[in-house]
Amino acid sequence: MKSVNNKLPKLSPLLSEWMLQLMQDKKLLDALFETHGSPINIHYLPAFDENINRFQKVFEKHNIPHDLFYARKANKTKSLFKRAKEDGIGVDTASYRELEQALDAGVDPKLLVVTAAIKTRKLLELAVENNVIVILDNQDECDLLKSVAKKLDKQTPVGFRVSGFYVNDEKLYSRFGFDIDDVESVITSNCIPEENNVHLIYKGLHFHLNGYSTEERGAALSQCISLSEILETKGIYTEFIDIGGGVLMNYLKDKSEWKDFKEELKKAVKGEREEITFNNDGLGYQMIDNKLQGDLATYPFYNENSGDVFLEQILNYRFKNKENVSELLQNKAIEIRMELGRSLLNQVGMTLARVVFRKKDRHVRWLVGLEMNMSQLQSSSADFLLDPLFALEPDDENPVDVYFTGAYCLERDIVLKRKITLPHLPEIGDVVGFVNTAGYMMHFFETQAHLFELSANLSLETSKENYEMKDFKTDE
Ligand SMILES: *Cc1c(COP(=O)(O)O)cnc(C)c1O
Repeated sequence: MKSVNNKLPKLSPLLSEWMLQLMQDKKLLDALFETHGSPINIHYLPAFDENINRFQKVFEKHNIPHDLFYARKANKTKSLFKRAKEDGIGVDTASYRELEQALDAGVDPKLLVVTAAIKTRKLLELAVENNVIVILDNQDECDLLKSVAKKLDKQTPVGFRVSGFYVNDEKLYSRFGFDIDDVESVITSNCIPEENNVHLIYKGLHFHLNGYSTEERGAALSQCISLSEILETKGIYTEFIDIGGGVLMNYLKDKSEWKDFKEELKKAVKGEREEITFNNDGLGYQMIDNKLQGDLATYPFYNENSGDVFLEQILNYRFKNKENVSELLQNKAIEIRMELGRSLLNQVGMTLARVVFRKKDRHVRWLVGLEMNMSQLQSSSADFLLDPLFALEPDDENPVDVYFTGAYCLERDIVLKRKITLPHLPEIGDVVGFVNTAGYMMHFFETQAHLFELSANLSLETSKENYEMKDFKTDE
């Protein structure tokens, strides 16, 4: 193959000062690895506070009562949900142990919600004993929760997960929740007090949509508001509508780099340039019948409508020429809730790993072995598309292209599928920093094959000019 364009496309990540500070302090990094092994996940909690604040400001501006819940499934670290508690927001829990830990840490049960996709009797008992609201997904769950509440002789607060919303006259499919066309009768049949129907107390509606469309979320919220009006005529009052998460986050500095990357990837898959991914992995693109097909199957890492802007767009959404959602809510006593995972973790995390070896493979590609494995930086999509940071001397003139390989005995344990240009070949013991990894990248898919230890999780609680070892709190 002719190498027409050898230069690899860059994907410069958005960075925070604390990340750069850390990467410039090689002594400190060495001390961290000495104590905690490799890889290490660092969590910078002031960024978490800032993210919370930004969402709260939007609701305050619109004069809408609100509560935020941190969806802790996005990151296992305890320091984060404890910080959520200190910041006065709630925690969305998705399993028995997530709920148990939050209760043990003293999170106010009123600021907890159970949205688990599978709800065991044990989980429901814990929720009912503590008056934690449960979001119901199907009739079997309603029946189980009723029987648990009856046995414990309690009335227990519930919300109903809704799906099947109308967007552009088509219904949105989801495997979760009750259909918007049926949910009214589900609520009345389960929650209107009758002799043997006194255990579930209706509090509100809930949805969490797949994908990242503000239009779909605006339309869903608008339809939930209409539903609350119908329920009200039957004497059933909606205290909250929980609009879930899925708020877009922006990871990248530069729109043109994002565009170029996709163009170069397509060219590579078509054989018009050298590979830019390991073994020319198309990350969703592929050649079928000599034609390029498919689409980039990664998270959309570059976004202009992220975070608070995304929420603004939902609140300003107008469904079928009605008033916009914010206006519809003005004279109502309905609280809007959000369960935010990824978007509260913006700029919060970094994953550090040490270089163990360098070698050339048969295709003369440099492979750099890292003391970590693929499960410790694993996205639910095709790859994590951000250039990593290096604790290297910057003034080198011998750039080298490398792939990072991990510790699992699999050919496919390539930590990043992208080929990365480094200022020079790293030395053993050099440090690679993957930035903005706190949302889903650190723990969601982490496994312990080969009996490797799980990665260490450390937190920085305040911003400082110079960090010392004692500033890094372990996750006890
Ligand atoms: C995962 C999840 C969230 C959080 O989603 P993010 O995209 O991380 O904001 C919120 N609610 C429910 C029900 C979820 O399953």
